Amino acid sequence: MRTKIYNAAVLTVDPAGHVYDKGYVLFEGKRILEAGPGCGPDADTAIDGRGGILMPGMVNAHSHIPMIPFRSMGDDCPDRLRRFLFPLELEAMTPELVYLSSRYAVCELLLAGVTAVADMYYFEDQVARACDEMGIRAWTGETVIDMETCDSPGAEGGLDLCRELIERWKGHDRIHPMVAPHATNTNTPEMLKRAYELAESRGVPCMLHVSEMDYEMSHFREVYGKTPVEFLYGLGALGKNTVGVHCIHMTDRDIALMAETGAKAVHCAGSNTKAGKGISPVRDLRAAGVDVGIGTDGPSSGNTLDLFTQFKMIASLQKTRYHDRSLFPAREIVEMGTMGGARVLSAQDEIGSIEKGKKADLVLVETESVNMFPRYNPYSVLVYSAGASNVDSVWVDGKQLVKEGRLTEADLEDIRNRLETAMTSFRESAQRYAEFI
Ligand SMILES: [Zn+2]
Repeated sequence: MRTKIYNAAVLTVDPAGHVYDKGYVLFEGKRILEAGPGCGPDADTAIDGRGGILMPGMVNAHSHIPMIPFRSMGDDCPDRLRRFLFPLELEAMTPELVYLSSRYAVCELLLAGVTAVADMYYFEDQVARACDEMGIRAWTGETVIDMETCDSPGAEGGLDLCRELIERWKGHDRIHPMVAPHATNTNTPEMLKRAYELAESRGVPCMLHVSEMDYEMSHFREVYGKTPVEFLYGLGALGKNTVGVHCIHMTDRDIALMAETGAKAVHCAGSNTKAGKGISPVRDLRAAGVDVGIGTDGPSSGNTLDLFTQFKMIASLQKTRYHDRSLFPAREIVEMGTMGGARVLSAQDEIGSIEKGKKADLVLVETESVNMFPRYNPYSVLVYSAGASNVDSVWVDGKQLVKEGRLTEADLEDIRNRLETAMTSFRESAQRYAEFI
């Protein structure tokens, strides 16, 4: 069955940057057939875009979606990771809570026009299951960390769970496994090397937090006389499968090493600045040829899963960092949030742009609301004016999952009620950390 969306400004994000001010997109099943100016050919179903903006589905390239129960808890508490996040996760996270939180988070992602998410957490098989059921595209990575966690006695167990996750999900059409060592400083060098080798041998991404913390930087400087990126390079753990999240404290040599090895970066502007950690040198990374995607980080760190919030922040922060208003024009920001994320996940041949043969992951943003008038440059509208509430319709694999701002397949109220019930013992455990939260 052929479906056509017409009467919309089509931002293809293809290599030539085609924009069809009054255009259409035609797709059949899961794949895009064509896009162009005008009304296009006849189709079985024709959807009027009502003058909105039709863009490729956004890619949230880094999150911890099961952390919904932590949102708005201890937001201003220093060293929250060790004071209450790690202990509370160990005590209160269960497979059921991860599963129900993930279902809730996917509602939020879809309603914000995010059609693909890369996640790393515990009980990641439950995240994969939830994402599969909800119809979103996902990269799911089991966390490997050198301490006891809610689903493993230590890093060795985490690596075993990665292997199981890969066995179960490799080859799935929408759900892709990853290996996810937590960070450069929370694993032994040996474990980082083994985690990367597993990812490389199975052809999956190896996602980890890199050059994020001040104490991470001083630790590597004092113990090894290196930066975390130099350290990963020395281990043989920096390569085309590496997805380095944050990359805040980067030297020129770090950036050159990432470019040389084909390692990727994910920028989480909201999470990084809320924590006062710094602003990643995204301009320099991109200028060196490093692929950069955009992530929100988890709902505990960034409080949102919506990329529109990041778009605005990235533009403002990068212009401010380099004292140059002309940097990061809106087109580049939208490109990072779509094709950039696709490249980071090595999925650029399948998603990230509106092109013939690619997956029909599409977002229609309405321009009828009060904040959306007038419209000159559609990229500017998306970066500086739009918010998740302007998302009208969303398709993943050609299936419409959001229509007129509402989920078509999922019952949000029921999903929230089930999560609320499952959070009872989590809330009780959280009382123990009341002084921090
Ligand atoms: Zn993170």
